[in-house]
Amino acid sequence: MAKLLVIAEHRDGKLSEGTLELCRIAKEVAPGLGLEPAAAVFAKDDALAKEVANYIPEVFSVADGAVELYTADGYSQAIKAVVESQDVKGVLLAHTYDGVDLAGKVAMAIDAGIVSNCNKAEVDGGKLVLTRNIYNGKLQETKSIKTDKFVVSFEKGAYDPAESGAGGAVTAVSVSFGDIRTKVKEVIETSAGGVDITNARVIVGGGRGLKDGDKFKEVVISLAQKLGGEYAGSRPVIDSGWIEASRQVGQSGKTVAPDLYLALGVSGAVQHVAGMKGSKCIVAVNKDPEAPIFNIATYGIVGDLFEVIPAFSAKL
Ligand SMILES: Cc1cc2nc3c(=O)[nH]c(=O)nc-3n(C[C@H](O)[C@H](O)[C@H](O)COP(=O)(O)OP(=O)(O)OC[C@H]3O[C@@H](n4cnc5c(N)ncnc54)[C@H](O)[C@@H]3O)c2cc1C
Repeated sequence: MAKLLVIAEHRDGKLSEGTLELCRIAKEVAPGLGLEPAAAVFAKDDALAKEVANYIPEVFSVADGAVELYTADGYSQAIKAVVESQDVKGVLLAHTYDGVDLAGKVAMAIDAGIVSNCNKAEVDGGKLVLTRNIYNGKLQETKSIKTDKFVVSFEKGAYDPAESGAGGAVTAVSVSFGDIRTKVKEVIETSAGGVDITNARVIVGGGRGLKDGDKFKEVVISLAQKLGGEYAGSRPVIDSGWIEASRQVGQSGKTVAPDLYLALGVSGAVQHVAGMKGSKCIVAVNKDPEAPIFNIATYGIVGDLFEVIPAFSAKL
């Protein structure tokens, strides 16, 4: 049977959570499309392929120094080889920096239609129907693909990770690589020892309503620490230098989807909301009852955050 193929992402020997989310999507939609769910892992050896086999029934492993680190040339050649040798109809990618770099190139290489940055996949009459946000999340559109082959990328956090226990098989695939025109010389962390807020289950997000960096620390950072979560901020908070840029949430920052997002003194501008509206529970504290953040909040508290949060913290 033809395959629906997840492309695994990893760094420093660790799989990304997005990979496991893609495994869930593949397992959910493949049967309705008459396809079998599978994954491909490109790495220096097959250790990660064995790990992915816990989440999906079949894994193709390209173990080669040429794909030890991501390059668009190396990955697109490896994907093309797997697509051609294993009868793959659909390729699923995470909509990350690497995924954005890769998706169009893969679609060209395998002559496929492409829909990027989706947050939902359904099957209707044997066809894949994809939903994605447009206009900074103000509207949603649905799309389907007319071509025989397809490439789809998904935004992080749109689905829960697949459960383990698939007991999948690992098949080695050898690829004769052609020219790889880029070379990764060094991988530099943006902030040494910094955290990736996209993996946090609890995020306390602060906005301009915090007034200054000291109050941000006092209220937002200490609450995040008490809750065992991470802190983040809106763009003015980053622009004012209150916290590091890697913690910006929104259109020009990170997209997060934690279990709990506390929005304190954040107005809810579309550019901020675009990065956090996938959160499972949103609690907003704002003194303005008309603040747009209340349109998407699960729970809203109209009040002065400098009174509400100390009272809340005292109860924790
Ligand atoms: C191209 C582009 C990209 C952008 N990308 C991003 C992005 O990635 N992320 C992002 O966040 N923004 C982004 N922005 C900026 C965005 O448009 C907003 O300006 C920004 O999100 C507003 O941040 P804020 O909510 O912290 O501040 P404000 O809009 O100033 O809101 C502050 C809020 O705090 C409330 N408040 C004040 N005092 C208190 C108090 N004591 N108690 C409770 N509430 C209080 C106020 O009522 C107000 O609602 C972008 C803009 C553009 C044009």
